[in-house]
Amino acid sequence: MHPFAYVAPGTVDEAIAVLNEHGDRARPMAGGTDLLVKARANVWELDAVVDIKNIPELMNLSVGSDGLSIGAGVPCYEVYENSEIVADYPGIVDGASIIGGIQIQSRAGLGGNLCNAAPSGDGICPLIVYSAVARIASSSGIREVPVEDFCTGPSQTVLETGDLLVSIEVPKPAANSGAAYTRFIPRNEMDIAVAGVGVFVQLDSSGQNFESARIALASVGPTPILAATTGNSLAGKPVNDESIAAAASLARDAATPITDMRGTIEQRKQLVEVLTGRMIKQAVERARG
Ligand SMILES: Cc1cc2nc3c(=O)[nH]c(=O)nc-3n(C[C@H](O)[C@H](O)[C@H](O)COP(=O)(O)OP(=O)(O)OC[C@H]3O[C@@H](n4cnc5c(N)ncnc54)[C@H](O)[C@@H]3O)c2cc1C
Repeated sequence: MHPFAYVAPGTVDEAIAVLNEHGDRARPMAGGTDLLVKARANVWELDAVVDIKNIPELMNLSVGSDGLSIGAGVPCYEVYENSEIVADYPGIVDGASIIGGIQIQSRAGLGGNLCNAAPSGDGICPLIVYSAVARIASSSGIREVPVEDFCTGPSQTVLETGDLLVSIEVPKPAANSGAAYTRFIPRNEMDIAVAGVGVFVQLDSSGQNFESARIALASVGPTPILAATTGNSLAGKPVNDESIAAAASLARDAATPITDMRGTIEQRKQLVEVLTGRMIKQAVERARG
């Protein structure tokens, strides 16, 4: 591994200054559970690693009347151990609680999961279905990018040299809404998703009809996919097996997987259909309380 300097700034401005000084030979580090694996494999030659865990803004986790703010360095366990997040954002908890095992979850977070931009990233689809927004700082100021637009290819994002993800902002879910995420893996845990599905639904006040839905798919395309047509197809439909099966079939069409060592195109499309049906049902159960 190429030797690098370890820098632990205390402010966003200091972090950005180091990133700009070294250009593409420096990277921010949150938990380091992807970064250090890649550095060891010489994916990059780094002169500096910028630890973000000493920057208070990036370690902030807060739930308010407007929504949830997750600092880019907040580890997964803080998310899934927070009772307000468990109550109001169960789909995000589903994702955060299956990223690796307990040791990984003690260091790694949703910010690193998003910036790593793996198509299989278990934290990303839940954020997409909750309409989360990434807050990014650079020397030119702050900009916001919807999470569904953040990943642009495998390990590729909208981040440019000198950019730092500060936080992920999740709006407060509407009344009568619920969400869920799951993945298929060959082992019970600690594996990369063959396919994953996140669903958010909002029901009408009777709880019998869909008002809106958002559905996102993992590991079946070059990035996590917002299956917008699939989600929109549920709006105004009754909550019944027919509507759910029709949406699950559309999700299958929205998946664009490849065949690789973990699964075939046909298997992954089949998994997307099955998991979409299951996650819609689970999201409906949660919406009904
Ligand atoms: C044993 C093991 C099991 C795993 N299991 C899973 C799993 O089940 N599901 C899953 O999705 N992933 C899994 N992973 C991958 C990894 O743990 C996750 O992707 C994790 O969420 C990464 O978070 P992190 O905080 O460690 O990120 P880091 O490794 O610190 O960073 C990841 C990337 O994001 C960049 N980055 C970090 N913070 C910022 C920032 N603030 N601004 C800009 N760029 C930033 C880094 O430069 C790096 O390129 C596993 C990894 C290991 C080693």
